[in-house]
Amino acid sequence: MLQTPPAPRLFALAPSQCEVCRQWAGQPLCGSCTSRFAATVPRCGRCGLRIGLAGAACGGCLREQPPFEHTACATDYGFPWDSLIADFKFNGREDLAGPLARLLSAAVAGAGHPAPDLVLPVPLSPPRLAQRGYNQAWELARRAARLQGRPARHDILLRPGDTAHQAELSRAERQRNLAAAFMVDPRQRPALRGRRVALVDDVMTTGATAREATQTLLRAGAAAVDLWMLARTPD
Ligand SMILES: [Zn+2]
Ligand SMILES: [Zn+2]
Repeated sequence: MLQTPPAPRLFALAPSQCEVCRQWAGQPLCGSCTSRFAATVPRCGRCGLRIGLAGAACGGCLREQPPFEHTACATDYGFPWDSLIADFKFNGREDLAGPLARLLSAAVAGAGHPAPDLVLPVPLSPPRLAQRGYNQAWELARRAARLQGRPARHDILLRPGDTAHQAELSRAERQRNLAAAFMVDPRQRPALRGRRVALVDDVMTTGATAREATQTLLRAGAAAVDLWMLARTPD
């Protein structure tokens, strides 16, 4: 009986269009769009907010130090990244994970912060994960971690319950909602203890989610937490 031959890997050979300018660039994000729309700009080293002067901290971080120590951030959340990130998260475009993770990894390399012992994604709750099929933060985290030569884990920081859609809530409601959102798997505490963690997410807006997740990790024994954020909502 004849065996079915393996399907040819056509997609690996096919030329690909840039997702932004639609040029046949051979890569999903072409070099000119990357340098035009993800240019390195001065950011607060602590929270990743775009600021006027490199090396300075933003007003918010000077008033109240966040629990995380550094933030590496690839771009502002705006054109064209907002629609690419929405496609990546909600429209099943998992194929964007690679190019977006490379963008994040380049920002991490450029930021020059201390290298983490562990790279963890901001987790999704089980119902949200079931609905979406994948955690976009994990897809970014594991790829960026591999590019940086650091280990990534998705089984340490957990999000047991579901929280209401953050965008529909006031700032105070968001804080209350998040207070019990995260936990560290008790069996994984030894793996976390004394470690420097990089926490990865696709978009950082108010930073409330990152603060809660950071505090959960620190309470469970992490030595320090830094953030790797693909995009940051400008002030
Ligand atoms: Zn392009
Ligand atoms: Zn800041």
